[in-house]
Amino acid sequence: MARTDRNKPRRSTASDSRMTLVEFMAEYPDDATCLEKIWRQRFSPDGTHAHCPKCGVERVFKKYPIKNRRTAWSCTAKGCGHHIHPLVGTIFEKSSTSLHLWFYAMYVMASTRCGISAKQLEREIGVGYKTAWRMFHLIRTQLMGQETTEPLQGVVEADETFIGGKARKGEAKYAGSRQGRKRIVLGMVEREGEVRAMVIPFSGAGDIRPRVLDNVKAGSFLFTDGLPVYRTMPQYDHAWVDHERDEYVRGAVHTQTIEGFWSIMKGGMNGVYRGAVRKQHLQSYVDEYAFHYNHRTGLGGPDPFRVLYARAVEA
Ligand SMILES: [Zn+2]
Repeated sequence: MARTDRNKPRRSTASDSRMTLVEFMAEYPDDATCLEKIWRQRFSPDGTHAHCPKCGVERVFKKYPIKNRRTAWSCTAKGCGHHIHPLVGTIFEKSSTSLHLWFYAMYVMASTRCGISAKQLEREIGVGYKTAWRMFHLIRTQLMGQETTEPLQGVVEADETFIGGKARKGEAKYAGSRQGRKRIVLGMVEREGEVRAMVIPFSGAGDIRPRVLDNVKAGSFLFTDGLPVYRTMPQYDHAWVDHERDEYVRGAVHTQTIEGFWSIMKGGMNGVYRGAVRKQHLQSYVDEYAFHYNHRTGLGGPDPFRVLYARAVEA
C-alpha cells in the first residue's frame, strides 16, 4: 500500500469539492498573508516593486504599518512616501473584519452548493450577526452576479417559477406578482451548460420575450412548457410539452434541467433562509444559486473560490 503523507492529505477523487478546507487554510493562514496576496495581485507581482502614481515610475515599496489601521505600502523614493492601500476599491476596504474571515466567508459561500445562512457564519467565525449578514450580502451582490456576455445556445430550456406565497385559490396560473406575495423568476438553461435566472415583474410577453432574446442565441432549440409567449419567437426552433395534459417528456423535449435548478434553488432558500427572502434581495439570492450552478465541477471551470477571489481583487 502506498504511504500517505499526513501533512499533505490527498483529496479523494470522488469528492465534489475542489479546494478543500485544509488547502484553503494552508494557502491563507492569516490576515497578513491575505493582505500580502492582494498587494501582489493588484499592485506588485514581486511584492516589492510597484508603479508609484506620484513619481510616475516603478519604485521600491515597503510595508508601512499604521497603528490601529491596516498596513499600507509606501514608496521609498526620497521625498515621495506615497502610500498604496491594497484594499482600495474592494469590498474589504471599509471593513474592520479580518481579511482571513472574509476569505473564509468567501470559501464557505463558494463551496456550499445549497447555501449557508448568516446565522451559521456567525457561529462558525464568531462575528456578530449583523457583520456576518453584511459580509454575505456584499459577497452575494458584488461577487456572485451572473455574467451575461455569452448567450446560451444549442438546446436551451426556458421556464418560469414562483417564489414566496403559494398560489391562492382562483388565482390565474401565470398571474403577475401584483395579485399576491409571489415573485416570478424566469430561467433559461443550456443543456450541459450554464443557467441564467432573473426576477421579472410579471409573466407577460413583454417581460419574457426580450429577456429570452437577450440570453438565448437565435437559431437555438428552445424547449418550454405550454405558455403561449414562447410560441411567438420565430428566432428559435421551438418545441413544448403540455403540462396541462400531464405531458412532461416527449423524447428530447422537456424542461427537466431548468426544473432541477428550480428545485435546488427553492430547497436551498427554504432550508437556509426559511423562505424569508426580502423582495429587494431576491435577485441576489437567485444569483447565488446560479453562481453555484454555473461553477459546478462538471463544467470544468476554475474553482468557485478562485472565481470569487478574482472578482474581489479586480475592483
Ligand atoms: Zn513615489
